[in-house]
Amino acid sequence: MTAVEPTPFDSPLRRDGHPQSRRDLLKKAALVGLGAGAVLATEPAIFAKPAAAVQSGWAHCYHCRGLFYPGNGPSACPLFTNGNGSHSTVSDDGVASWNYALWTESSGPSGFQKGWRWCSKCQGLFYLPNGNSHCPKGGAHNGTGSFAYMLEVVPPGTTVGGDEQAGWTWCRKCQGLFFGPFQADSYCPVFSTNDALGHHTGGGISYNYSLLYVP
Ligand SMILES: [Zn+2]
Ligand SMILES: [Zn+2]
Ligand SMILES: [Zn+2]
Repeated sequence: MTAVEPTPFDSPLRRDGHPQSRRDLLKKAALVGLGAGAVLATEPAIFAKPAAAVQSGWAHCYHCRGLFYPGNGPSACPLFTNGNGSHSTVSDDGVASWNYALWTESSGPSGFQKGWRWCSKCQGLFYLPNGNSHCPKGGAHNGTGSFAYMLEVVPPGTTVGGDEQAGWTWCRKCQGLFFGPFQADSYCPVFSTNDALGHHTGGGISYNYSLLYVP
């Protein structure tokens, strides 16, 4: 299954003395304007590197295929009934998730999709504006205290840079973000009649999201 994932850091030229693409220039431009804000104790801290004003520390869950923040300790994965078990950053055979990094709305390039939030109940990322979200812990996701995140959207089939991974997908059932290529192996908090197997699904209408990852 790991075959569909690009090799991490397979483009050293791009990370070091790389020829600058428009995307690189956008990232540099985004350095300006990352402001400090009120942060709750449980909020993942902003990680501002010289190279990019992004927040790293996000991970892919090998249970449910969702994106979540493991830095706060116990989380809630939809693999388990009522979310009574944590997401996992490591696969059964010991493969660790990459370290994903998210732009905040105040820091990133223009043109990204705004409206994404961290859920303090399950530690997952979800899309707030639609309202009808579903958390593994029951009820809706809770974005109170979250930074406002935004995601890059790329056309289907786009080959992204060596420090990015496309294929991330919005789930129309729970409003979470999951890795689309593993959809058949995913778990959604919503076991709807439209999807008896309980997988996350983009329903053919999700954008193709591309995430940054860092060492
Ligand atoms: Zn999970
Ligand atoms: Zn949640
Ligand atoms: Zn879902």
